[in-house]
Amino acid sequence: MKRLLPALILLLSGCGSGEPPPLSGPITTATSDASPSPSAQVSVLGSHGGVTVTARPATSSQPGGAPYRPPTPAAPGRNYDRAPVGDLARGLLRPAPYAKVAVEFDIAGGAAPSAAARARVLAVVKETTRKPVTDVGGRTLPSRGNGCWKAQELFDLAAGGRRVATGGDTVSLDFLFLDGTSCAGSGVLGMAFSASAVAIFTGQVNSLATPTVPADAFMQAVTTHEYGHLLGMVNIGYTSSIKHEDAAHPGHSSNKQSVMYFAIDQTDLLAQFVNGPPVNFDSNDLADMQGLRDGTY
Ligand SMILES: [Zn+2]
Repeated sequence: MKRLLPALILLLSGCGSGEPPPLSGPITTATSDASPSPSAQVSVLGSHGGVTVTARPATSSQPGGAPYRPPTPAAPGRNYDRAPVGDLARGLLRPAPYAKVAVEFDIAGGAAPSAAARARVLAVVKETTRKPVTDVGGRTLPSRGNGCWKAQELFDLAAGGRRVATGGDTVSLDFLFLDGTSCAGSGVLGMAFSASAVAIFTGQVNSLATPTVPADAFMQAVTTHEYGHLLGMVNIGYTSSIKHEDAAHPGHSSNKQSVMYFAIDQTDLLAQFVNGPPVNFDSNDLADMQGLRDGTY
């Protein structure tokens, strides 16, 4: 069924259509499109198109069985813009040490999001972080045309040269809106690939528009979904007391009505397709965010 409806399979989650990422083991990288150095590991959450990619261990344990906890935000010497997905969840959600958020939009070719989609990104960041959010503009990236982007080059783009780096009282988010495709697979809609950066493949997302579901609905779903991974959704760097992680697709919600959901069967996909994809976090996602915010996790 995936072969028949690759775009549909990919649209709902922005992530994880194929084999689930491992729950344990070292952080590795996409199978064929990146060769990160030890100092620049890419942890991609976005296995669209059946390509196996891996994520940081979501629920790994430290010695003694204590739940995994990323280093405290703003740990001396730690570059959070090069850290794995989920490591800035607490830094984003808690009042300190980051009092404000800078959001950068880097755009390649004609891949700019609509004004409404851009505004929606800023609104979701503000709603979830409860902090002042500034649109700092962004870089114009060379068009890739019909070519593809490697995970490692996206990582390097986001880690170096962005307008505002995470530090001091500011946490930085980098949204890359790209033309062309991901080298991990032409069906990739988006991916979260570091603690503070996501990539959206605008043309791939917009191609999902139908007479009844506009492109912006899919864009809203994909951007919110990928940003949700930066907030740790679901069970990335913490273990929720609510059982709502999709066991078959780690890092995703089991609720079809959550934007963090990943659907795999045709019936559900068609239903979602007709009605439009979920675009909001559900109550369990929001409860997890609150737990991360107030120190429960
Ligand atoms: Zn995902």
